[in-house]
Amino acid sequence: PAGAADAGRGARAFVCRDREEELAEVARTIKRDPRRVTALGRTGIVFQRPLPYLYLARQVFADARIPYQALDALPLAAEPFAAAVDLIFTAIAANFTRGSLIELLRSPHFRFSHDGRAIAARDVEALDRFLVERKYLGSAPRLAELAADAASSRSRLATVLAAASAIADELSSVSQAASAPEQIAGVREFIASHERLPAAADAWYARHMRARGAVLGALDLLRDAHAAHDPEPLSIAELAGAVRRWIEGQTFAPRTGDAGLALLDARAAAYADLDEIRIVGLSEADWPERAERSIFYPQSLLAQLGWSPDQERIAAARARFQDLLRLPRRRVSLSTFTLEDDALVTASPLLDDIDAVGLPIEHAPEPTAVRVFAHEALAMEPVAATGVEGAAAEWLSLRQRRTFDDERFRGAAGPRAPVAYAVSHVERYLACPFRYFAADVLRLPEERDEESWMTPQERGQFVHDVFCEFFTQWQMRGGGAITTGNLADAMDLFGRVAEERIARLPEGDRALERTLLLGSAAAAGLAERAFAFEIEQGAAVIERLLEHELEGAFTFTGPDGPRSIQLRSKSDRIDLLDDGTLRIIDYKLGRAPKSDRSLQLPVYGACAQQALHGRHGRAWTVSRAGYVAFREKQAFCSLGKGDEGIAAALAEGEARLVTAVDAIERGEFPVRPDEPFLCTWCPYPTVCRKDYVGDE
Ligand code: SF4
Repeated sequence: PAGAADAGRGARAFVCRDREEELAEVARTIKRDPRRVTALGRTGIVFQRPLPYLYLARQVFADARIPYQALDALPLAAEPFAAAVDLIFTAIAANFTRGSLIELLRSPHFRFSHDGRAIAARDVEALDRFLVERKYLGSAPRLAELAADAASSRSRLATVLAAASAIADELSSVSQAASAPEQIAGVREFIASHERLPAAADAWYARHMRARGAVLGALDLLRDAHAAHDPEPLSIAELAGAVRRWIEGQTFAPRTGDAGLALLDARAAAYADLDEIRIVGLSEADWPERAERSIFYPQSLLAQLGWSPDQERIAAARARFQDLLRLPRRRVSLSTFTLEDDALVTASPLLDDIDAVGLPIEHAPEPTAVRVFAHEALAMEPVAATGVEGAAAEWLSLRQRRTFDDERFRGAAGPRAPVAYAVSHVERYLACPFRYFAADVLRLPEERDEESWMTPQERGQFVHDVFCEFFTQWQMRGGGAITTGNLADAMDLFGRVAEERIARLPEGDRALERTLLLGSAAAAGLAERAFAFEIEQGAAVIERLLEHELEGAFTFTGPDGPRSIQLRSKSDRIDLLDDGTLRIIDYKLGRAPKSDRSLQLPVYGACAQQALHGRHGRAWTVSRAGYVAFREKQAFCSLGKGDEGIAAALAEGEARLVTAVDAIERGEFPVRPDEPFLCTWCPYPTVCRKDYVGDE
């Protein structure tokens, strides 16, 4: 912030960036002045509106270890118990979607069980994954169906499914009750039967019980109001809206602290006996306080009815502000701010009145560099251990006892025994070694988003299956290479195979998959692309190997010469051409992968040359290799141009594979994404130390 002194001798207020910085400046002023004569209990912070200062004070003064006291009404809706009750209405209104149901089950304010077995956090996690896999989109009957299917297994998943289904049934009957009072009473009963109360010794017990009493009291009042005036049943949206509005209209006055700095609003401050005050939030919007406009009557009519006109109201506000300036016995200081919600804020016009009050002006001393907050004690060198206490102090002492120069803090996990590698997993290593470590060494499950449609993996499998089925049938009928002469037959057969497979998909997936395979008026489908390049290349096909497994030990040439690597892989398609060469093809739903990170085609090529040696009594070399990628402009994205280009691409791919496998076996798994954008789609961001390493 710019202090009064910084802003020149004429400045009358501290100018801070935002409201939080205003409180931070108060904390700095208190901590910077070791000869401070005013006791904290005789010092006040005065604001026009309590929020957000009461929330900000919790963080800022706790961080600066300055005690404070406040007794102000906060919205009841901000209490955790009110939020827990809101989860019930969210679950009903959302028709028990996965997210709303899991949030309710996870709430620490409720306890759920089934057949005497309590539902634990790990059960809820298992349910969450199960519902994602089943593409569950909500509704009590669907939950009941899933619960019935799992019932015979008597597993923990069956228990949590049964509990979730019972919750959905219970809340469905609440929302379908015959009258509004019964609906609200049903919610009360649900809370009573599943509530988890804190222990009397818990620090938050008193506050929780008061908030709970206020929320339940609000529900009772609403129930009685409906019974007296409007017992008609409410729709789910109306019921949730009515309860939310009712709770949002209530306030709650928790007492915070009983000693230290006093936080007061302007009305209460007028009656306070203090030595020093800081008036904060001096913006045009707050000081003077805005009058609430009547939406029913014009100002001229209200003036005739005795309503005070704007000029009088502003004059009264000026007088109150001047009284406030004279309130403390020793000193008053002021602060304003420039930004709120990223918008510029204009300072209060009341700041122009300060000199008229005639108080002697005291200029703020030049700020000295003092570490006031715990984060400053930790983040600035040298670290000040005395600046933190409790859990932060424990963490700091642990952190200071350790050094982090060891290579194991840089991704070195120690040598690993060779295994049979899947080519796609080694590609994962090339994309980011730590991602490989998370998936293939730690075997962490991927964080998956809710997918109501086919996942990319499911779609990839579906497309491969359709092509495999088509070419199997095509070969059985002796179709051979696809040419302009038999293209219509091929398209016809492909259309029938695709339609037969598409018919087995859920209805919502069919149109998209049909477009992908068969194309639309705007773009060619995968089939057309796959056939077009074959016609262009024009070579006669002796045999097609579809979904061909390449497993076992193969020899690859790396930077240090040849070495043997165990692989397990499956090539989408290998065409054996009549000129003694191989054509390796991979289908991609998106774009062709970047050639300097992809391994599949070069590795399949090298493996196929070795595995097919002697087939049809001859040796085979790769002459063509490429991707049929739906999102690429050209039908076939070749791995390299001409024989030399292909040979070079295969050699580079082999070297990449050997280098990556050597690094895996040395146990090198640093956090090193090949490109930063890969982190956007990574399924392991929550276990990754990317930020920490990236900052170094
Ligand atoms: S978030 Fe980025 S750095 Fe971390 S594992 Fe994933 S890809 Fe690697």
